[in-house]
Amino acid sequence: MKIFAIGRNYINHANELNSPLPKKPIFFFKSETSISKNNKPFYYPNFSNEIHYELELVVKINRLGKNIAPKFASRYYNEIALGIDFTARDLQRECKKNGLPWEISKSFDGAAPISKFYKIEEFGDINNLNFHLEQNNTTVQKGNTSEMIFSINELISYLSKFNTLKIGDIIFTGTPEGVGPIKINDKLCAYLENKKLLDIDIK
Ligand code: MG
Repeated sequence: MKIFAIGRNYINHANELNSPLPKKPIFFFKSETSISKNNKPFYYPNFSNEIHYELELVVKINRLGKNIAPKFASRYYNEIALGIDFTARDLQRECKKNGLPWEISKSFDGAAPISKFYKIEEFGDINNLNFHLEQNNTTVQKGNTSEMIFSINELISYLSKFNTLKIGDIIFTGTPEGVGPIKINDKLCAYLENKKLLDIDIK
C-alpha cells in the first residue's frame, strides 16, 4: 500500500513557506507505519523540536489504474477522509537547504493520522468542500478543495504516470495555509464541512 502526499497544492501555503508555485504536482511518500487510526494520540518524537500540523483532504483509490486520463480519474475513488501530514519542519528545512530528499521529516511512525473514510456523496461536490483544523479550540487552518492548484483528478492522472495505483492506496492532497507547530498537551480537531473527523491529543 502506498501513501502519496502532495506538496504545495495551495497557493497561500506555498507563499507562507516562501516556496515557488509548482508547474507540475510535487509528490513524496509517507511510510505505511506513518498511518495512525481511531484518533490515537500522537507522541511527540525526540528527533525534532518543531513538529507542524498540515491538515489535508485524503482520497482512497478503489481501482487498479495506470496512465489514467484526468477525465476518467473520478472513477478511481469514491471515499474521502481527513488526515494530518505531520512534518518535522526543522529536519525538512535542513534537507531543503542541502538539496536532500525530505522524507525523514515526513515519513515516520505516527506522522499520518487518518480519520474514518466516508463516501463522497455524504459531503457533496468534492471540488468544493470546506475543511478546517482547530488547535485547542482555536481555528488555525481553513481551506476549501476548490483552492487546490491541481485538482484531485489531475493529481490522480499525474501520479498514475509514474506509479500504478492500487486499491487501498491513499493520497494526501496538500495543505492550505496556516501550518504551525504543536506542543505536548495540545488537542487537534479537524472538521470536514461541519462534521468532526479527527480528535487527536498530542502527548
Ligand atoms: Mg503536506
